[in-house]
Amino acid sequence: MRVIIAGVPGAGKTSIMNEVAKKTNHQIVNYGTVMLEIAKEKGLVEHRDEIRKLPIVMQKELQREAARKIGEMKDIIVDTHLTIKTPSGYFPGLPIWVLNEIKPDLIVVVEANPHEIIRRRKADTTRQRDFETQDDIREHLDANRYAAFTCSVLTGAPVMILTNRDGMLEQSVERFMEAFK
Ligand code: AMP
Ligand code: MG
Repeated sequence: MRVIIAGVPGAGKTSIMNEVAKKTNHQIVNYGTVMLEIAKEKGLVEHRDEIRKLPIVMQKELQREAARKIGEMKDIIVDTHLTIKTPSGYFPGLPIWVLNEIKPDLIVVVEANPHEIIRRRKADTTRQRDFETQDDIREHLDANRYAAFTCSVLTGAPVMILTNRDGMLEQSVERFMEAFK
């Protein structure tokens, strides 16, 4: 099976994936990590949070190269983004040429309340995140839903909206695992 898991930064994708990794034979691939490796080889960035600040043409090229690599893998869960907030606006993480490589069977959108997301971002000191208000986050959550259903219509893959509330990680993991049955 080929699954995409996406959501705004701080929604909890990676936390859910760390737990899912213990329960599945699927390979978990972080799209940003694949892009980062390619970008580092080219000497473009040193940190993953610099990628979204690169000129869009470069982000597109890295995205395309990463899609080709990931497209060759079998039985995968791809941790990625439906939209990326760049200085030029919302950049699509899953344009048609990426979908054509990944060929998802399921799209999971991880969501949480904006105030929970703000708190989680503050707590994560490993990342260089831009400050956003609750309204900014709400807009990004909406943009991701529009993008998710566009991907769904283009691929025929269903969309699961997975709400990942504080203290409910176990339930989120369970709901995710049910999709594999
Ligand atoms: P993450 O650690 O998941 O936040 O990913 C790090 C960075 O990789 C993101 O901030 C984006 O700049 C980039 N990235 C991840 N997935 C995609 C994608 N599907 N398309 C374009 N850029 C992506
Ligand atoms: Mg992540």
